Amino acid sequence: MHSDCLFCKIARGELGTELVLETENFVAFRDINPQAPTHILVIPREHIASLDQLEPRHGEIMGEALLAIQTLAKQENLDQGYRVVVNTGSHGGQSVAHLHFHLLGGRSLQWPPG
Ligand code: 5GP
Ligand code: ZN
Repeated sequence: MHSDCLFCKIARGELGTELVLETENFVAFRDINPQAPTHILVIPREHIASLDQLEPRHGEIMGEALLAIQTLAKQENLDQGYRVVVNTGSHGGQSVAHLHFHLLGGRSLQWPPG
């Protein structure tokens, strides 16, 4: 638990952010600056700074994250597809140092990313 981490505060409900999904180990909420009609962030309740800090003990709950994303995609009617992004480190474009999965959908997305 990191008292000064923005996403830890959101996971603890301290900022009043509406959660669109809660599981034992994850919470999900809408991105404040959406890049697509659906733009949801899925984060572990545990403070993990980035994908690069993931440990073998996290392996089991990461499957839970992907299933939560699948559930959210159904809730959001993303039947034409969607994209899951984990920006990691400075070259990866990570701006918040708490692991998060971006779920993007609702429009056709370009590839390659910038
Ligand atoms: P990153 O750039 O680290 O991959 O993604 C961080 C995301 O968090 C960005 O898309 C940004 O818009 C979002 N974000 C930053 N601060 C807040 C906030 O206070 N509330 C919400 N809902 N999203 C935030
Ligand atoms: Zn955190």
